[in-house]
Amino acid sequence: MSAPGPYVTHRLAYGRRVSHQVLVGQVAVGGSAPIALQSMCTTPTQDVAATVAQSISLAEVGCHIVRITAPGVKDALALKAIRAGFDAAGFRDIPLVADIHFMPGAALEAVEHVEKVRINPGNYADKKRFAVTEYSDAEYAAEVERVAERFRPLVRRAKQLGRSLRIGTNHGSLSDRIMNRFGDSPAGMVESALEFIRIAEAESFRDIIISMKASNPKVMVAAYRLLVARLKVHGTEYPLHLGVTEAGDGEDGRVKSAAGIGALLEDGIGDTVRVSLTEPPEAEIPVARALVARYANWRTHPAPPGCPDEAVDPYRFQRRTAEIVRLGELAIGGGQLPRVFAIPGTAAGKPPADLIVADPNLWPVESRQVPGYVGAQSSGVRQAARAAGSQTAVVHLNRAMASPYVPDRSIVLLGIDDADPAGSLRRCLDLLPEHVAVGIAEPGALGETRAYRLLAAVIEDEFRLAEARSAGAGQRQPICLALPFVNDDLAVAAIAGGLLIDGIGDCLYLPAVRDPRGLAFTLLQAVKARTTRADYVACPSCGRTQFDLFEVTAHIREKTAHLDGVAIAIMGCIVNGPGEMADADFGFVGSGPGKVDLYRGKEVVRRNIPFATGREQLIELIRESGKWKDPPA
Ligand code: SF4
Repeated sequence: MSAPGPYVTHRLAYGRRVSHQVLVGQVAVGGSAPIALQSMCTTPTQDVAATVAQSISLAEVGCHIVRITAPGVKDALALKAIRAGFDAAGFRDIPLVADIHFMPGAALEAVEHVEKVRINPGNYADKKRFAVTEYSDAEYAAEVERVAERFRPLVRRAKQLGRSLRIGTNHGSLSDRIMNRFGDSPAGMVESALEFIRIAEAESFRDIIISMKASNPKVMVAAYRLLVARLKVHGTEYPLHLGVTEAGDGEDGRVKSAAGIGALLEDGIGDTVRVSLTEPPEAEIPVARALVARYANWRTHPAPPGCPDEAVDPYRFQRRTAEIVRLGELAIGGGQLPRVFAIPGTAAGKPPADLIVADPNLWPVESRQVPGYVGAQSSGVRQAARAAGSQTAVVHLNRAMASPYVPDRSIVLLGIDDADPAGSLRRCLDLLPEHVAVGIAEPGALGETRAYRLLAAVIEDEFRLAEARSAGAGQRQPICLALPFVNDDLAVAAIAGGLLIDGIGDCLYLPAVRDPRGLAFTLLQAVKARTTRADYVACPSCGRTQFDLFEVTAHIREKTAHLDGVAIAIMGCIVNGPGEMADADFGFVGSGPGKVDLYRGKEVVRRNIPFATGREQLIELIRESGKWKDPPA
């Protein structure tokens, strides 16, 4: 595969990606249409009344497109009655989508009744065997032709009926063919979709929407960006459905989704969104709406003149290199885990914040006992530093100050001048002593994401310049992701999460949110930048789910949250669950009514055990595998 070109014109510019528009029934997706919100029913599809009722309930909370699983032909047939019932209730305008895995026959039935069919290119015509085979080019082409023979009838019928298709790639369920040639990589995910796009285009069919979901937001973001770059070359810029799959429940699911989806919306990418939560589907819509609302009125703007290019490879995760700055005992940057700062009263918990930042004007007594404090302006910092008997400070540096006082070993938050963004940052950096970390206090018209990208680029430029002038003299300051005025958790997760996914960020300072410590640790866990508890991959559930996924997920989380570094998957069904558990260490998967399978990695180690004892047996299995430890008292 040739090296991808850029996926956006400039990472410091903003413009919504202009995609080819596709109609899903009466809902336009892509082009200049507003970003559509969608969700998926969790009722058994053959329970027509329950599925119609849940579709109505979703429409009533603002869902624009409703997806329904069709595991078999009978379920696909039930879509006819569901469509009729939904129409009769007055929701003719809301399109329905059939979700298909493994069953081309079900897709061919479903396309007769609903406005869109989603297929998974990893399993539409392939069974997952985890087989390792070297394919010659001829064998590979023969495999693709075998897939084409199964997919073509669906494309032809969709074309005749005016339906659209979604080619929905999942990182965890790539075909063995793709895995053997590309690995489970963003490049493999993109190629998996392109194989199906080429088949459809050979039939002159372009009513296609694409998704590249993964439960790891870093993989998901890289795959979408790579897809956008490849589609630019390919010719048709298909609209994109965004989602982080198996994101989980509660705050974890919301933050993980916001980080992945938000990173792409910040790039101007995305035409329809599904936030996948292990909760009733109605709970997904307000989260999706809040995420998308932030971008509804964003205006296109070019990169500011004179701004350097970033040194970030957007298709491959690599943490930005920074030097170590020590604030008292605390080391920041230099490959250390990202640090978490909190304000007084919010620092306690498990784990506690790494540093308390107290404003001496607000907390004059406590600031003597804490390792950090913030001065609203430089003149106040000198006084406060003396009072606190410490040289450690977080300083909000006003760009108008001629010769600010900045204690050595500080964190300095800079302001960006809209008239000269790069120049204003360079001037501030020139004023600073060595051994400081930097962040942004006032992002100006660029907004926080682009301001931090610019800061990283300017530091890199200054480093190169200084190195050229006198060998080794350059500094790469650690970057503190400070969002002093952003008080919405989802917006913080989108901005800071997106930057962490880009490898930018050595500490987090989120003083405006309700729980700065908790949100920072949740976000770091979500983007796999610092894990402080067990990780969960939990499917959102659907009509295939074999048990009460919400209750089981909450219970397993309660019993295992202290297992830092262990990843546990809780999946509703055996059809799709094992393929989509990604790289979980253990899996709890519904295998039939009242039965579950337990997995260690990708291997089933207890098959068809009674659901009633499944949770205890999972803990036994973790214990046997040497990964258990008792929870702290
Ligand atoms: S893994 Fe969960 S969401 Fe996926 S098909 Fe099975 S039950 Fe449905």
